[in-house]
This record gives sequence, structure tokens and C-alpha cells, in this order.
Amino acid sequence: MRCPFCATQDTKVIDSRLSGEGDQVRRRRECIDCQERFTTYETAELMLPRVIKRDNTRETFNEEKLRKGLLKALEKRPVSMEKVEEALLRIKRKLLASGEREMASQILGEWIMEELKALDHVAYVRFASVYRRFQDVHAFEEEIEKLKTPQPLIIP
Ligand SMILES: [Zn+2]
Repeated sequence: MRCPFCATQDTKVIDSRLSGEGDQVRRRRECIDCQERFTTYETAELMLPRVIKRDNTRETFNEEKLRKGLLKALEKRPVSMEKVEEALLRIKRKLLASGEREMASQILGEWIMEELKALDHVAYVRFASVYRRFQDVHAFEEEIEKLKTPQPLIIP
């Protein structure tokens, strides 16, 4: 790491210990050039990425908005709240695991559709029809047909 005093590229770690609740590493560093000492803190980045929308604007990931979207698609469908929360959690984990600072809303949309597809086909079609903005009725019908046909089981 660069020395903040003289900007030399090389500094050495002279002490390293856990701090906070054990979720932070505190490192004492010394510059090999000017011998100044400084401290750095390292934490796991668990910030959810911001969402890049279609019009290229960015917005903070909004869990409540996602929940509302799922519930709207699942309205009057036989899916328990517990299943919805599980799906939400899986989507959030994927976001966290991506390690990205920004994520295209299209990717997020695909993950939501995957979850809905597994939960309830009607909800999936509802969501997908809005989300994918099907070009015409034909494309929409095709998607429904695909759902009626049992998918072959693929064993890798
Ligand atoms: Zn230095």
C-alpha cells in the first residue's frame, strides 16, 4: 500500500490484529522510505451494489421495492410469505456474492424471473410480460406455451 506521507509505493505491515467485533482487521504499517507509520482498517465489503437502470441512471438497491414487485406478481397465488422471503434472500445473496458495486437492472430482473419461475408459473408470466415488454402477443403466447411443455430434465 502507498505511503500517505511520501507516496512511496512500498510500505510494510508491522502489526495486524482483529478489531471491532472481530469483523475488522487493523494493520499498523510503516513506510520503508520515510519511516512514517499509519493504520489501515480492512472490512469485508457487504454493500449491496447500486442498480443501473435502463436509462443508465443509478439507484440504491431497494429491498422493499423488490418485495413489493414479487408480491404484486404473486397476488392471489398460492405461495407463502416464507417462500417469498426465501426468494428475496437468495437474490440478495447473489447481489452480495457478485462483489460488484453496480449491477445492471436486467441481470437483477433475470434473477427475479428465475425465482418466480420456480415459485409460480402464473406469477412468472405476469412479471415477465411486464419486464420483458414482449414485442407482441405472439411472443407472450410462446412463453406461455414453453411453460406448458415440461422441461426435459438435464443431468450434467
Ligand atoms: Zn513514506
